[in-house]
Amino acid sequence: MERKNAWTMYDETQTEAVEALCKDYCLFLDRGKTERECIKQTVEMAEKAGYVNLDTVIREKKPLKAGDKVYRTCMGKSAVLFHIGSGDIEDGFNILGAHIDSPRIDLKQNPLYEDTELAYFDTHYYGGIKKYQWVTLPLAIHGVVAKKDGSIVDITIGEKEEDPVFCITDLLIHLAQKQMDKKGKEVIEGEDLNLLIGNKPLAKSELKKEEKEAVKANILKLLKEKYNIEEEDFLSAELEIVPAGKARDCGLDSSMVMAYGQDDRVCAYTSLVSMLESRTGKRTACCLLVDKEEIGSVGATGMQSKFFENSAAELLSAMGVFSEITLRRALANSRMLSSDVSAAYDPIYASAFEKKNASYFAKGLVFNKFTGSRGKSGSNDANAEYIALVRDIMDSAHVPFQTAELGKVDLGGGGTIAYILSLYGMQVIDCGVAVMNMHAPWEVTSKADIYAAKLGYDAFLARG
Ligand code: MN
Ligand code: MN
Repeated sequence: MERKNAWTMYDETQTEAVEALCKDYCLFLDRGKTERECIKQTVEMAEKAGYVNLDTVIREKKPLKAGDKVYRTCMGKSAVLFHIGSGDIEDGFNILGAHIDSPRIDLKQNPLYEDTELAYFDTHYYGGIKKYQWVTLPLAIHGVVAKKDGSIVDITIGEKEEDPVFCITDLLIHLAQKQMDKKGKEVIEGEDLNLLIGNKPLAKSELKKEEKEAVKANILKLLKEKYNIEEEDFLSAELEIVPAGKARDCGLDSSMVMAYGQDDRVCAYTSLVSMLESRTGKRTACCLLVDKEEIGSVGATGMQSKFFENSAAELLSAMGVFSEITLRRALANSRMLSSDVSAAYDPIYASAFEKKNASYFAKGLVFNKFTGSRGKSGSNDANAEYIALVRDIMDSAHVPFQTAELGKVDLGGGGTIAYILSLYGMQVIDCGVAVMNMHAPWEVTSKADIYAAKLGYDAFLARG
């Protein structure tokens, strides 16, 4: 089945809109390298667009009505937005969902140590990574340290021009004969992902008598001076190691974006922008940006948490229409685009794909009837009737789209959040943007697809 190249479908105005959208998208990525940073931006953008905090609405017992726009966050790491429609709430929501956590390397709770007069942070990686891709790169540290007095220290090191960066070292090729014979997954072991952070000892005059590790002592002194934190404070910290540097245009024709964390912020950002621009429709629009997808959607801020359901109940309550049965009906009658990135066909690794059912750069928004692998295991298999509706929505709005599976049948697979929302009995389909180098420190997308996603989300939210 031939799908058109999206670039050829855009007129001049749209081609300019592609550039404008992607410029803002890159800024969002630069300012949002962790789930907390993404939610912070989400709140700022939502408030600017007239969204009100649902928790304030609840506290002040303000009634909500059609046309009202509210948002709510969970622990600063996930968020839900609602734009109330004019129709019956029992007819359900139009939901856009995506995740804002990305593969990375986290600090351990007891991270700091010294070895041979070098100071390191010990780490535990988060999500599926090819560990060998994360060595010898400039890395940054983003995150928070929560102190016992209730204060939060925000930390970002490695992004400003004048900032230092960090590095996980690799063995020089000259001595790597044995290492080069190892299997890919053993070339760099998880326990060896240690971040090099210092090599200068504290002056002897400042060193306490019992202190033997002067380089570590100097690091602790710097942390105390700059952030007022002690070694014990690492126990209650969330510090994430990510590639240092900004999102960039990629290609001689600047047709692509190369950046960290596009899985799944490319879908999250376009969903959010579409939501914020949406007009009041018949059906209530909803945008869900969740954490922890990369480790199984677990925890209070992951999709499996009751946060979304509780927030929907609060919304109905503030609208004065809450009852258990109304909530159940609203959820069951909802439609969802569960967006996550797709593996873009890469001709260099052609044997991993089945060409008829692969996603391609510049062929538009990707729809996956099912994900999973080896017999569709673990996938949300979208309903044919629902796919027909989605096709009609996309075609009516001239949205470039394609359909795909994730690689060859017996090869791979991956999970998304679709199956969790489908538990309510609602219509859900997986969709998203095609990505090359998925889960690598720097991932690549086509600008034509980023724009197609935005167009698709606009059309989906507007459908009554
Ligand atoms: Mn993803
Ligand atoms: Mn992923």
